[in-house]
Amino acid sequence: MSDLITVQGVVLSAMPIGEYDKRIVLLTRERGKISAFAKGARRMNSPFMAAANPFVFGTFTLYEGRSSYNLNQVSVKRSFAELAQKQPGIYYGYYFLELADYFGREGTDGKDLMNLLYVTILALDSPSLGDRLVRCIYELRIMTEEGMMPAIYACTGCGREPEGEAPWYFSQEDHGLLCPACARQTAVRHTPVGLPAIRTMQYIAAVPMNRLYTFTVTDEILSELEAVIHPYVKLGTDRKFKSLGILEGMESLLVDLTGKRG
Ligand SMILES: [Zn+2]
Repeated sequence: MSDLITVQGVVLSAMPIGEYDKRIVLLTRERGKISAFAKGARRMNSPFMAAANPFVFGTFTLYEGRSSYNLNQVSVKRSFAELAQKQPGIYYGYYFLELADYFGREGTDGKDLMNLLYVTILALDSPSLGDRLVRCIYELRIMTEEGMMPAIYACTGCGREPEGEAPWYFSQEDHGLLCPACARQTAVRHTPVGLPAIRTMQYIAAVPMNRLYTFTVTDEILSELEAVIHPYVKLGTDRKFKSLGILEGMESLLVDLTGKRG
């Protein structure tokens, strides 16, 4: 049995196969993103019934087969089963998994991405932080972890560091900040972003992972963060995220019904 391996991981997705089985995609500390066959996972008495599901963090023992991994044993650390009751929280969760799946690669070290997912799902589960802020923080940090941090420490035009009372700007085309003077001279589209929102982005990009979700912001700052970060992720990825489509559909319905965002 020399081909048995043990990995720390999280289930990113699970797809039914045939009548009783599942194929799961795991993000693992040791081998990056891999997929595994979970035989019998849909049988009532299977030990994989509760484990072969999205959001499950744990220790997975796998056989390394010729063309795929086969799930042999799972020790669940945290399943976040209660997240399923939260609307729209659960769709934020699925979106976070989809984004991690997009960036995950086999054969790489998945530790940072896995840790980021863990603290993010924990934050989503806690009532003290709004889902919208959690999404902004996760999106900016995952882009940073993947080497796509926008220029948030200096103006992309002149290199000046953010300061002063006048609003600065963010240009998607330039992948970063524009100072008021450079913004006046450019023809590219840019969005106003105040100093507090810029400082917040700098904090998100640099703070240790376990302190990411320890602050809140005003509605005004949150709106500025959304106006910068959401398009930045959309332009920096080339996949349409299914759960994001559902989420945005739910949010616009909520705006129609209540006249404000949820
Ligand atoms: Zn400038």
